[in-house]
Amino acid sequence: MPPEFVEVQPVMAAIKAAGFEAYIVGGSVRDVLLNKPIHDVDIATSAFPEEIKQIFPRTIDVGIQHGTVMVLEEEQQYEITTFRTESTYQDFRRPDEVTFVRSLGEDLKRRDFTINAFAIASDGELIDLFDGLQDLRNKTIRAVGAPQERFHEDALRMMRGLRFASQLEFDLEPQTLAAIADNHALLGKISVERIQIEFVKLLMGVDRAKGLIPFVETECYIYCPGLRQYGDALLRLADKPLRPLQEEAQAWTMLVHEMGLSRDEIKEFMKEWKCANHLIAKVQLLANGLTRRLTGFWDPLSAYQMGGNIQLVEALLYYYDQKPQLNEAQAFYDALPIHQREELAIDGRRLLTALDAKPGPWLGQLLQEIEEMVLLSQLENNTEAILAFAKER
Ligand code: ATP
Ligand code: MG
Repeated sequence: MPPEFVEVQPVMAAIKAAGFEAYIVGGSVRDVLLNKPIHDVDIATSAFPEEIKQIFPRTIDVGIQHGTVMVLEEEQQYEITTFRTESTYQDFRRPDEVTFVRSLGEDLKRRDFTINAFAIASDGELIDLFDGLQDLRNKTIRAVGAPQERFHEDALRMMRGLRFASQLEFDLEPQTLAAIADNHALLGKISVERIQIEFVKLLMGVDRAKGLIPFVETECYIYCPGLRQYGDALLRLADKPLRPLQEEAQAWTMLVHEMGLSRDEIKEFMKEWKCANHLIAKVQLLANGLTRRLTGFWDPLSAYQMGGNIQLVEALLYYYDQKPQLNEAQAFYDALPIHQREELAIDGRRLLTALDAKPGPWLGQLLQEIEEMVLLSQLENNTEAILAFAKER
């Protein structure tokens, strides 16, 4: 057992001592079986939330309506969720209500894919009611139960299936894949925020083609923001070499580059996806840097604009049949005469005094011109030289 699982043993033992069942469930079991690092260990129990709160002195209600209580023990926190079923689904979205149950089997049945429906008992026994182990071995994403029904209950599961394919380098089992193709339009019922989380994971996955190709073939992409016209761009993206990206911003940059979006279009597109403004700004910057780098328009001004992001752009060259020169790019940036406007040997106020002039739009323009000339080594970054130039102006 990995240390993360050993660590939860006392918590599980306390639940058992009170007469209830407790199991480790969900993604962490899958990841351990795949020898992958695990993030969070989810515990499922037959105890109802109120019963959990009686067992442990310190708890926080993090999602009690869904049955989740956070238990605080020895500086650690554990999320414990009551076995539940999700009975009535309307609008193909989340269930209207969850029902707490006492049976592990009922809880595992509502889970999306066989590889996400394992449980581990406190004695280490693996419970595998849906042949998830076989699917793990065959690298297969298979819906638990009848895929058509499962995607009707919650259409987001289709996106989840595609992103697990990309993250784990798995294939979708044929009937599961066919059910996604049949039901792709239901994605239109799902909030962009929920789709976005899965889409980003899909783009960042080690084998994005395994997710992107079925994403296009099943036409799921048509019901995602701004992608309707861009099936070909998505397939080109799928064709890029396999290699993990460092950051989400790089994934969006490659996507908008393939789509051929302008700066303004990037903003519009990413707004539709409900991306944060700082992420949009970064992608605009990286996309511009990438285009310049690929078209040989790379000069001190572009490097200056990239600021600390120069290596993120450089690393993307790998995907465009060029060898990234990470050290050279950094050295080029480090050697720039200045790295921000504050490093100029002059500022607006001193210019005004020296020129004995009134402020106006000309001042900003002049400063920008000075900044560019300094960067291009056409003007030395010292006060006298700059003032002499400004006076001539
Ligand atoms: P990750 O490693 O990305 O967190 P995960 O499998 O843990 O992957 P979570 O979103 O954290 O995914 O969900 C935890 C578990 O809850 C899943 O493994 C699955 O059993 C179940 N689950 C999550 N979302 C759904 C859903 N939409 N429908 C059915 N089961 C779900
Ligand atoms: Mg998880």
